Amino acid sequence: MNLSENISKDALRKEFAKNAKEYYKVKLFDDKGFSRHTCKICGKNFWSIKERDTCEDSSHNEYTFFKKNPKGVGYVEFWKKFADYFKKNGHTEVKSYPVVSRWRQDLYFTIASIQDFQRIENGKMAFEYSANPLIVPQMCLRFGDIENVGVTGRHFTSFMMAGQHAFNYPKEGYWKDRCIELNYELLTTVIGAKKEDIVYNEDVWAMPDFSGFGPSLESFANGAELVNSVFTQFEYVNGKISEFDAKVVDVGWGFERLLWFYTGYDNAYEAVFESTIKKLKPKLGIDLDPVPFKKFAKVSGELDVDEVKDAREKEKHLLKVAGITLEEYEKKVKPMQAFYAILDHTRTLLAGISGGSLPSNIGGGYNLRLVLRRSLDFLDQYKLGIDIMDIARLQADELHELYPELKECIDSGLFEDIIGTETKRYSKSKENSSKLVESIINKKEKLDISRLRTLYQSNGISPDFIKTIAEEKNVKIDLPENVYSGMIVGDLVKKEKGKKIDIDVSGIPKTEQLYYKLAEDSSSKVLKVHKNLVVLDKSPFYPEGGGQEADHGTIDVHNVIDAQKVGDVIIHVMEKDVSGKKGIAEGTTVKCLVDKERRRRLMVHHSSVHLMSAAARNVLGKQAWQEGTKKSFDKAHIDVAHYEKLNDDQVRKMEEFINNNLFKGIKVSVNYMDRKDAEGKYGFEIYQGHGVPAKSIRIVLIEGKDGKFIDAEACGGLHVAGMEQAIGMVKIIDTERISDGIDRIVLVAGNAALDYITKANNTLTAAAVELNSDKFKISERISSIDDENRRMRKQLQEQQAMVAEQTAQSLSISDRVEKEIDMPREMLRMIATKVIAINENATVLLRNKNGEVVCVSGKGSDQNALEFIKQKAGKKKFVGGGSAKFAEGKLV
Ligand SMILES: [Zn+2]
Ligand SMILES: [Zn+2]
Repeated sequence: MNLSENISKDALRKEFAKNAKEYYKVKLFDDKGFSRHTCKICGKNFWSIKERDTCEDSSHNEYTFFKKNPKGVGYVEFWKKFADYFKKNGHTEVKSYPVVSRWRQDLYFTIASIQDFQRIENGKMAFEYSANPLIVPQMCLRFGDIENVGVTGRHFTSFMMAGQHAFNYPKEGYWKDRCIELNYELLTTVIGAKKEDIVYNEDVWAMPDFSGFGPSLESFANGAELVNSVFTQFEYVNGKISEFDAKVVDVGWGFERLLWFYTGYDNAYEAVFESTIKKLKPKLGIDLDPVPFKKFAKVSGELDVDEVKDAREKEKHLLKVAGITLEEYEKKVKPMQAFYAILDHTRTLLAGISGGSLPSNIGGGYNLRLVLRRSLDFLDQYKLGIDIMDIARLQADELHELYPELKECIDSGLFEDIIGTETKRYSKSKENSSKLVESIINKKEKLDISRLRTLYQSNGISPDFIKTIAEEKNVKIDLPENVYSGMIVGDLVKKEKGKKIDIDVSGIPKTEQLYYKLAEDSSSKVLKVHKNLVVLDKSPFYPEGGGQEADHGTIDVHNVIDAQKVGDVIIHVMEKDVSGKKGIAEGTTVKCLVDKERRRRLMVHHSSVHLMSAAARNVLGKQAWQEGTKKSFDKAHIDVAHYEKLNDDQVRKMEEFINNNLFKGIKVSVNYMDRKDAEGKYGFEIYQGHGVPAKSIRIVLIEGKDGKFIDAEACGGLHVAGMEQAIGMVKIIDTERISDGIDRIVLVAGNAALDYITKANNTLTAAAVELNSDKFKISERISSIDDENRRMRKQLQEQQAMVAEQTAQSLSISDRVEKEIDMPREMLRMIATKVIAINENATVLLRNKNGEVVCVSGKGSDQNALEFIKQKAGKKKFVGGGSAKFAEGKLV
């Protein structure tokens, strides 16, 4: 292939098409009499048994699989049918992975089944699998089409990607012939497609950066795209295309679509949520009339009316094409769309929350909150007579066999707690914002995506809430198209920038990691020196990673102040430039020494953070996933997901949990385990610290001396295995709500705890001496000092009032008073006011040595107070202000 210069999907499509025999033609095509055609509409090449002019793409064909009397089959039962077929054909069924993507740091949620088996190793994709070939009922969350959910009849934010995967061909697994053979058999014998309706479109699939790509065959029948069978065959690295020696078959069956096709319902929601809909129907209070809904879904799904800018114009246009009236649309279509969307959104919330994510305003939790608020708005707007819990319970029950975690999440009360808290929070923010919304509507403010996003993020105001209020006021407002899609957070986690290390390590071999043997010194060979950066053949210095700071120490006489990993190479950051004469020379052997005290403290803090993670799950519940950690010399912290701010009781219980275990004695061990065994034995909780699952993973296990399980995590950090007593005790020194949904717990352990307590004690002792009190009675002492202060302040005020009264009495005998009294301005004000209370014909001007001046005129006086000050100012300038009755300021 000669495409290295300008690689693109189009170029690949042309290249593969030129050689269709090699890339697309499979044995089945000959066996069953499929021949190759070119679509007269879109120009794509496709394979079919019947002669046809066009491919089956849904944009140029209507769906023709709807049945007169559609019959439901049940989600789980249909999965069993699907799974049985593949199991009969040599596949192993693997359990669904969590929907929150803990093992891939670049994604918030699982968005595809293949993701379960991918890991990134040195920037390259590698595959790990527990069976081959396999199928997996992977629940996925994607929010990009949120606007279309409930509307088009086929979009979802949560869906099952029924993964069919074969790895490592030609050594194991299978390839195109077998894949399409299985596909055809499934479609014709299980799903019920007729062979002459089946069409395979030739296409190309590629990673965004072309790090993996290959030909793909899309299966269509009756206007529906049923699945894309991807053959990941090539990679594009450093401008070169090469063929994988371990190819992968990646078929992600859209299970919702397949079930829909099988049942023949008008829209996918009826097929997927059939039993839930049946049970809720009597409560709904709306009429589920499929005819107008279907008419509208059809045009909204197919019609490209982007050129129509004005939203109202677009709506009119759609209604005209669909052939329904505005009234039908408002009364029949919209409530149904809302109901379907709530069904989808509730399942998304169930999956997300049971997987350990929480509605919040950051990351993936942001999208969960958005779907929840959207659902609550719909429930309000259409008064559907059901609530989120009604739906969630039914769904969890139905899906119990496939996804038991959903029901667990409901049975534990967690789901209801979170939805309840969130609902309250939302109605409060609506209450607080209704004034703002009214003013926005009254002012006819322009509401573009960025304004709406800001309103949502800072005031919790959703577009639908604005719409509702506008409708109540009978004002029609225009919101931009796809407003929700413009507000969601994408699937990819925004990358945090790492420290910039300016050194080229190409060609340098992997640094031997002595720190895993807990080595504290070494004789190492210097491979490269660049300014203050040094690379060795082997190193005892732990490079910063997994929240644990780097080891410090010395290389010969030079100070190491940091260590970082670049690929597999450890870069030692020196205090000063060592590339000169008296520095470190390449090719020489140097003596490395790690700062032992620092190392031990980092280890103690790391193991303590694992203990805290276990404590959080024990006290707060399973959803208290670890969101981030930091282990430093003098303290450590762990961020845990929690839907409410931590209270004192929870903090105390967590501390007790840890210290009770420490007093009884714990055992920390580090073992390499097969990934499959580790996941099976300890569950996905091992990915708390975001350890990357390789075939063999490093498991840090903490148990009680009695063998009681405490915590297990995939972790690359250093731990106190064999020196557990170094932890001593763990003390929580602070907690902080760092963002909506996440609490930070700051802790100290071991020597750092001792330092902290000593320092706290010294501070307390010094304070006690200062206050002339006992250490533990400081707060009583302070409150008695407070009382004393209050009493004295009161006394002072009484005395001042008395002085003011006496002075006023003596001044009130004349009508014009001008006098210097050396007292603060407040006193001057008090005296002057008292004078005019006694003599209402008086005008009183008082000043002090600082030049501050106050003038007050009584009711019966016709002297203007402000003018009086100005008159008497002499050479000085009056800075201040006031009125005819009262003026004050300064003479300068
Ligand atoms: Zn076509
Ligand atoms: Zn760890």
